[in-house]
Amino acid sequence: MNISRDEILAYIDTPLLRLISRTADEMQLECYLIGGFVRDFFLCRPSKDIDVVAIGKGIDLAAAVARKLGKKAHLTVFKNFGTAQIKHGDIEIEFVGARKESYRSDSRKPIVEDGTLEDDQRRRDFTINAMAFCLNGDRFGELLDPFNGLQDLEELIIRTPLEPDITFSDDPLRMMRAVRFATQLGFDIYPDTFDAIARNRERIAIVSMERVTDELNKIILSPKPSIGFILLEKTGLLEIFFPELTALKGAETKEGVGHKDNFYHTLSVLDNIARETDDLWLRWAALLHDIAKPVTKRWDPKLGWTFHNHNFIGEKMIPPIFRRMKLPQNEKMKYVQKLVSLHMRPMQLVEDEVTDSALRRLLFDAGDDIDDLMTLCEADITSKNPVKVNHFINNFKIVRLKLREIEEKDRVRNFQPPIDGNEIMEVFGLPQCREIGILKTAIKEAILDGVIPNEHDAAYAFMLEKAREMNLNPVAER
Ligand code: ATP
Repeated sequence: MNISRDEILAYIDTPLLRLISRTADEMQLECYLIGGFVRDFFLCRPSKDIDVVAIGKGIDLAAAVARKLGKKAHLTVFKNFGTAQIKHGDIEIEFVGARKESYRSDSRKPIVEDGTLEDDQRRRDFTINAMAFCLNGDRFGELLDPFNGLQDLEELIIRTPLEPDITFSDDPLRMMRAVRFATQLGFDIYPDTFDAIARNRERIAIVSMERVTDELNKIILSPKPSIGFILLEKTGLLEIFFPELTALKGAETKEGVGHKDNFYHTLSVLDNIARETDDLWLRWAALLHDIAKPVTKRWDPKLGWTFHNHNFIGEKMIPPIFRRMKLPQNEKMKYVQKLVSLHMRPMQLVEDEVTDSALRRLLFDAGDDIDDLMTLCEADITSKNPVKVNHFINNFKIVRLKLREIEEKDRVRNFQPPIDGNEIMEVFGLPQCREIGILKTAIKEAILDGVIPNEHDAAYAFMLEKAREMNLNPVAER
């Protein structure tokens, strides 16, 4: 990459970085920009987080810079970590003193001493994250790249600055970060580095689940998440923290009948949906839509391979997975469960004669998530047969159109039955009892089946008729 000092200067010659530079010169502190900010300059990616490393007291430099910025800046000092952060508008600057680190085998917490710039670069995770720009005096904008990060950037390679067993054993979270950067940037993991991840995979156990899940979510949010999942599977990491997903692997054949490999199918669905949405939870629904296929798989001599109820069993598998992975146990999880449980329904509509009643029931069950459900189902079409694909896509178009028509006509998406339990109790002078539930369900079913319109008067007349069959008389007629 032929980048001139002028181009670097054009990137970093901002009032804020000049102010840091002047302050460091006054304090006679060597100081550098380092990490993601430098990497992203070469990748032409926007970067809002700036990391500054000072040879000496990073916190003192941050305090002096914050004083100069005055009220516009907000300084936070993390004494225990020897770091400080300044928030200035929407920019965050992290200050740290250059460190030399050594590790014990049972912890991610290093023993830290002051070090040189190169000591600090050595403890970074990857060569592309270990490049630095000097901020001092007339060295402003000088690139320091002792581990050839720039060359690795050009060759699209993720590689550790040190012998990779040391880097990964010191901090096993870096194994997840390697896969995450490879996925986000579309880079390859260098063979040595890859082999070391496979060798050190068991050490992921000392990393907190929250940190692992953080990286996994970044992989899921990448443009092509399958890159990350394939790397996680091949290195053996996935098996350790997500065995339900590796259980999807493999395609069995019996009496000449095979089924698809549900691991690679799931990854295609995830890539498909990633082209349509940035919503993390819709992407999670794609990842988990077939999660119960291994536990529901049966061989039936007449039907071949079956996965009966895998949608409902999948829905039930989600809470324990979310709990273990420290994902939220709230409406986000319920949303993923709902989509997994309903993911077969639109396909059944495509295959059968589409009746208004089936469409109404789907709208009622999916509510406001109907569009997301349709997006998931379209992403679920991974057949290699273009005739089949076209057939499904066209039929889904028809289903979408019909859903819109039904919704306009019957408004069942967020359907609240036009007669509630209180009204039924009043009309028939009943206390809370079984009959109320029976009448309520009968009204709901009649509306969903299209027997009566979704209106109060029609529902009232239907209720009276139904009640008569049950030998119930309205108070007014007694
Ligand atoms: P992103 O903002 O996309 O997460 P980033 O590289 O800026 O990318 P940060 O987590 O902010 O990621 O880290 C900033 C820098 O700190 C990295 O570029 C890297 O040099 C270093 N770093 C972060 N985490 C580690 C780690 N676990 N081990 C070694 N170095 C790390």
